[in-house]
Amino acid sequence: MNRASLSAALHAALARELPDAVSLRHDLHSHPELSGSEHRTSALVSTALGAADAPAIAGTGRIVRIGPPSGPCVAIRAELDALPVAEQTGVPWASPTGAMHACGHDVHMAALVAVARAARQVELPAGLLAVFQPREEANPLGAPDVVASAGFTAQQPYAVIGAHLQHQLPPGTVAAAAGTVNAAADEFEIKVDGTGGHAGYPHLAVDPVPVLCQVVVGLQQIVSRQTDPTHAAVVSVGTLEAGRAANIIPGSATARGSLRALDEADRPALHQAIREIVGHTCEAHRCRGTVTIEEGEPALVNDEKLAAASWPWLGEAGFAVNTAFRSCGADDFAYYARAAPSLMIFVGVGGPVTLHHPRFLPGDAAVGQVASAMLAGYLAALDRS
Ligand SMILES: [Zn+2]
Repeated sequence: MNRASLSAALHAALARELPDAVSLRHDLHSHPELSGSEHRTSALVSTALGAADAPAIAGTGRIVRIGPPSGPCVAIRAELDALPVAEQTGVPWASPTGAMHACGHDVHMAALVAVARAARQVELPAGLLAVFQPREEANPLGAPDVVASAGFTAQQPYAVIGAHLQHQLPPGTVAAAAGTVNAAADEFEIKVDGTGGHAGYPHLAVDPVPVLCQVVVGLQQIVSRQTDPTHAAVVSVGTLEAGRAANIIPGSATARGSLRALDEADRPALHQAIREIVGHTCEAHRCRGTVTIEEGEPALVNDEKLAAASWPWLGEAGFAVNTAFRSCGADDFAYYARAAPSLMIFVGVGGPVTLHHPRFLPGDAAVGQVASAMLAGYLAALDRS
């Protein structure tokens, strides 16, 4: 079968699978599980593939191979986990638990199940490995565990495909830029220690609160004044914690935040800048500062040949193809891209709310769109082999 016939057969089979995949999406959405606890989720998707006994990978993950049982294969990844977000969508299948599929992983999983079920109905020239990965949203990240596992490498994946919903792109548009498309992302914690005391006698205490506030303001100049303006980087502080009473100066104050860079080479200087601002600001105000930086995923780099090979297939699937979009989002899919030529395709769902928002709820059409994008990635990988 030539590639065009293969594509037509896969898309025809996919169309038959989509109604069931949409039902599966609702089931997954109403039963979200947090990172590392995706037991029901992984059982549900494996059962939907008729592979309830599929081998476990990286703890709660599963892999299911379709097509030729040996030889090189194309892996397609979907993520199993949800976020600690209290859902506010109001749909009948909303999650009541305080956990929520606010990153679209319900859509990605349902799409991958549909793709794998469709692929089973067609004679494939190379294996398709459905990878249901745990722990994308929280440390310890799941992708490095999958990449390092014998179960994954034994399948000989020579290309890895991912697809992720993206609110900055309109519906009907997909992005598959060559090169770096997501940032390296680290997390930092800053602790400022002073000396607690009575709010009415500040001269007898060393107040860490205004010092931490100055640190947070100072951090804003790392990107604006210390980083090459043609290089994207982000320093965002997400938490501030200090005392518990209005009339007590606390002994310490803590901030945690996210540090991102599209250029890996900028990472050490960004780390150093945080340490210097904290150290010197604390010194100027008689406090002690401590910085802890936990390195997260590397920058996500799409393989250039795989990206270019995907554009015609994505166009044929009816998408407008954006070949330039990149963002300071981060995804542990970056670890696959370090191990094998990989491609992350962003599938537009439009606004107004962003990923991780309590009202993020793309329509069910997104299931078919993500599935089509995954198929285009599989076909592109065949072209590249
Ligand atoms: Zn995600």
